[in-house]
Amino acid sequence: SKDTGKNKFTIFDSKMEEELNRNTLIVEVLRNAIDNKEVYIQYQPLIELETTTVIGYEALMRIRSERLGSITPEEFIPIAEESGLIIELSSWLLKEVCNFNKELIDMGIPPRPVSVNISSIQINRPGFISLLREVLEETGLPPQYLELEITESSLVSSIMDATELLNTLQELGVKVSLDDFGTGYSSLNYLTKMPINTLKIDKSFIDNICYSEKDSQIAKSIIQLAHSLNIKVVAEGVEYENQLALLKEQKCDIIQGFIYSGPLHAPALIDMIRKA
Ligand code: C2E
Ligand code: CA
Ligand code: CA
Ligand code: CA
Repeated sequence: SKDTGKNKFTIFDSKMEEELNRNTLIVEVLRNAIDNKEVYIQYQPLIELETTTVIGYEALMRIRSERLGSITPEEFIPIAEESGLIIELSSWLLKEVCNFNKELIDMGIPPRPVSVNISSIQINRPGFISLLREVLEETGLPPQYLELEITESSLVSSIMDATELLNTLQELGVKVSLDDFGTGYSSLNYLTKMPINTLKIDKSFIDNICYSEKDSQIAKSIIQLAHSLNIKVVAEGVEYENQLALLKEQKCDIIQGFIYSGPLHAPALIDMIRKA
């Protein structure tokens, strides 16, 4: 509009309009991302602390568009969820990732689980379990080499009873990891009552463990409790030696963080696994 004066409301409106436009553009990019090959996957190694070997890897979705350049998951995942496009994108990703992990096994690389982030929108779809079955069957990936990363908040908001869902996943034979632990909904209920294999302590928590005695104590207690329940613990976003040393002392099992490696393209991941 021509009528942009010094009116605060007009300025606010134009800022909102800009955001709306970017939103619309991102939806457009996401809608065509698979066809245009503007979506791809990186893998971040998970390192076992005791042996410093790669014991798994997390698949992370990436968007690089001709029109908008790289868009971070922080920006595009919420838009993909709101628009429903997450369904198509994550189904694509799940197939790619299972296929990739099966290929590694076929190459003679000792099998390790690949982890995939599952959004609450996916979990709440009636077809989710059948999609999983279908993908595992189509790709031939043994189910124990697929791990689903689920947040506590999506378990809480699940239409299916959380225990029922996790039991079904366990019957299917896939692994389950409780993601972003320590943020928001943390309920010890989930730990003691739910069949989960791994717990991932969120980066926001790991950031402070060397500077906050309280956070350090909480991390220690979480690790001890998890171990008493036969659950492995991953520390996310470990960047510094002092964090690593502390986590080692606290008997944390697995490290995911820049201190060992950021997310990698598939060939770089394969190189890293082979060198070890
Ligand atoms: P997340 O599941 O907590 O994934 C870990 C994030 O931490 C990744 O960010 C990873 O690159 C980053 N990270 C790992 N180690 C370090 C470190 O040492 N330092 C720092 N600063 N960052 C580290 P990314 O790839 O940007 O993903 C952000 C979030 O987007 C993920 O958080 C996840 O919630 C979501 N996301 C990514 N890919 C997918 C996907 O395929 N599906 C769904 N539903 N969500 C996804
Ligand atoms: Ca994750
Ligand atoms: Ca996480
Ligand atoms: Ca996180």
